[in-house]
Amino acid sequence: MKIAVSTTEQNLRIKEAELPTIEHAGAIVKILGCGLCGSDLVKIKNKTGAQNIVHGHEIVGEIVEIKINNKSIPFKKGDIIVAGHHVPCYKCHYCNNKNYSMCSKFKQTNFIPGGFSEYIFLSEDHLEHTAIKVPDNLSEIDASFCEPVACCVRAVKRAEIKQEYKVIIIGLGSIGLLMGQVAKHYGAYVIGCDLIDERIQAAQNLGFDENIKFETQEITSGYIISKCHHGIGTDQVFLTSGSKSSLDLAVKSVRSGGKIIIFSSISSPDAYIHNNEIYYRELSIIGCYSASPEDLKDSIYMLEKGIIKTDNLTTVYDFDDINLAVEDTIKNKIIKAYIKISQKNNDTSKEQYK
Ligand SMILES: [Zn+2]
Ligand SMILES: [Zn+2]
Repeated sequence: MKIAVSTTEQNLRIKEAELPTIEHAGAIVKILGCGLCGSDLVKIKNKTGAQNIVHGHEIVGEIVEIKINNKSIPFKKGDIIVAGHHVPCYKCHYCNNKNYSMCSKFKQTNFIPGGFSEYIFLSEDHLEHTAIKVPDNLSEIDASFCEPVACCVRAVKRAEIKQEYKVIIIGLGSIGLLMGQVAKHYGAYVIGCDLIDERIQAAQNLGFDENIKFETQEITSGYIISKCHHGIGTDQVFLTSGSKSSLDLAVKSVRSGGKIIIFSSISSPDAYIHNNEIYYRELSIIGCYSASPEDLKDSIYMLEKGIIKTDNLTTVYDFDDINLAVEDTIKNKIIKAYIKISQKNNDTSKEQYK
């Protein structure tokens, strides 16, 4: 089978690998396609990181072989599924406090070898806790948004939005565009902010209440503050951009007593929030990393019901063109890449996604 691995010379290399086998209980899943996540990009570009790694976790796949001990697992051969790549233990102190993504088992579990592969092995633990059958009315590409939407669901839950809140999403890449929709569903008035016109237009089309093009720190923060609660500032900022200036804008725009939800790594080493801003202004700063199995279930429900729309966010690439997908995403030519890897076993319409 073909897999895409990280290398030092170029972004990714497609190579042949052995098919995975079911060592213990679990399933072999034929990957129909896999979304390219911002976190994959960070790892692919970080050439000092481990090489020969198969990235990709936003999978949609077909179960082609299954062997399970736990009879309550509802899947069978032929089922089209999505699955979270990490499984919490549900026993440790982190899990007992719902910090599932901090659990050591969560961090250790993954797909074998990874989503950018023609086939993966999915453990029985994954099948029990993170795999979900794709509803018949959900398209393959919509289904591939299950994991990223689930991460946004988790962030919005942790933010504890109230109905009268005005929140701002700084960074309208695919995650920002999903986050705004989730925040709206939870009752907030949502303002989007970005530098790029096409992204502001996309937010407009997806039903954000208002959108602001970033100009300068002073102009843009002043404008945001003037829009919120008679000039006191926004209740919450969701930071879905990895630039230092977006962190500065977040601190300037949030009201005293407000909350900043950090949803992105920032490579700049001097990106920080000053102690006295947090202290004198009673700011709450929370991080939000990955999604729990419960969030995945909420996510697929919201996608199925059309609460979250993914129209026109995705550009589809053939598996052989995966490096082009990486480059186009980095250059902001596209919003979200979906790597089309295989056709369904019973599907002969090979040209369907081209
Ligand atoms: Zn992701
Ligand atoms: Zn745990």
